[in-house]
Amino acid sequence: MKMPQPHVAGSLAPYACDPARSRGRRIEEPAAPTRTAFQRDRDRVIHSTAFRRLVYKTQVFLNHEGDLFRTRLTHSLEVAQLGRSIARSLQLNEDLVEGISLAHDLGHTPFGHAGQDALNTCLKSLLPGTAEQRSGFEHNLQSLRVVDELEERYPGFDGLNLSFEMREGILKHCSRANAQLLELKEPGGVGARFVHGGSPSLEAQLCNLADEIAYNAHDIDDGVRSGLLSLEQLEEVPLFDGHRREALKKHPELQGRRLLFESIRLMLSEQVYDVINTTRQRLEAAGVASIDQVRSLPTMVCFSDSMKPESSALKSFLHKNLYRHPQVMHNTDRARQVVADLFGLYLQRPEEMTDGGLFKPPLARAVADHIAGMTDRFAIREHERLIGTSVFPHSVEPAPKPMQSAAAR
Ligand code: MG
Repeated sequence: MKMPQPHVAGSLAPYACDPARSRGRRIEEPAAPTRTAFQRDRDRVIHSTAFRRLVYKTQVFLNHEGDLFRTRLTHSLEVAQLGRSIARSLQLNEDLVEGISLAHDLGHTPFGHAGQDALNTCLKSLLPGTAEQRSGFEHNLQSLRVVDELEERYPGFDGLNLSFEMREGILKHCSRANAQLLELKEPGGVGARFVHGGSPSLEAQLCNLADEIAYNAHDIDDGVRSGLLSLEQLEEVPLFDGHRREALKKHPELQGRRLLFESIRLMLSEQVYDVINTTRQRLEAAGVASIDQVRSLPTMVCFSDSMKPESSALKSFLHKNLYRHPQVMHNTDRARQVVADLFGLYLQRPEEMTDGGLFKPPLARAVADHIAGMTDRFAIREHERLIGTSVFPHSVEPAPKPMQSAAAR
């Protein structure tokens, strides 16, 4: 494989997002004296309350199951590392890639996808429901809500007032129905491409793929660490097994943890080089010379035709053997119950959500925002406090009194 050459930080390609030509913030602000718009965006994300919550939110394994499993925070850091590394090689904007990567999961509920599915079902079950309720719950859209509306840190606006390019990258998927609702509020804004077609910036495309590369790799690690996957089982995954063999050829004595880590390391490197080479070729072939051109073309940041099926096979393996493992599914069922119970209870007794503060109507959305903002352990404690039963026994310390609202920002 051709080895991509390193680049000096800071030299941007013509198709990269240039902060000096940003489409701007929703509310205009004076430029920062020492930082570009995207550096400032990244810094705002790091200082947000939602970012700190990521440390206690489930990626695959519940937060209390072990200290070394990935959480949403460490996952986001790994996405940022991979993203920056690829961005530098392609001369894309590293600050923007880092910012999007760190913010991409801010809207995740407690308990990972189980929490999201439960909240979505709860909202959609409210019949006859407003269009807003029928729009349900999507974690990408919620990430945008966090940075646009829910963070309460600045005197002049709700949210973090991030630049368009950050918000575009954060909203990496969106249903057409929800994009149409966004379009009503912000015509031609971040929802437009899901209604009218088009692509986001290369930096946004890159974060999307870096997310996938990161979780495929770290879920192998966490899966083996948990004992739910074995190295022998992984031999059926060609992408992993090829690198395991390569590692053993170079280091015949390798076994156990070091063999696992070396195989994952080689697998990550191959995928990173593959993305860099493939993307560079596609950009050259299409003669891409500007960000406007990027937006009108299909996705440019992607795997080669040979890597795509290998990556898909790994993803299918993880779905079948890890995400749907009976032990994971057992927790998934319990997590759904916690979220559904809390949703029903707060709808009946909204005063339980606040510590004397106000919430914006409609109530169902305020309840969804409140629950989505919770960490795993806060949700478990709230469930114990309000429902009186322990769905995850011995998972958390007793609740401190007085309980501080999860909505406090
Ligand atoms: Mg992610």
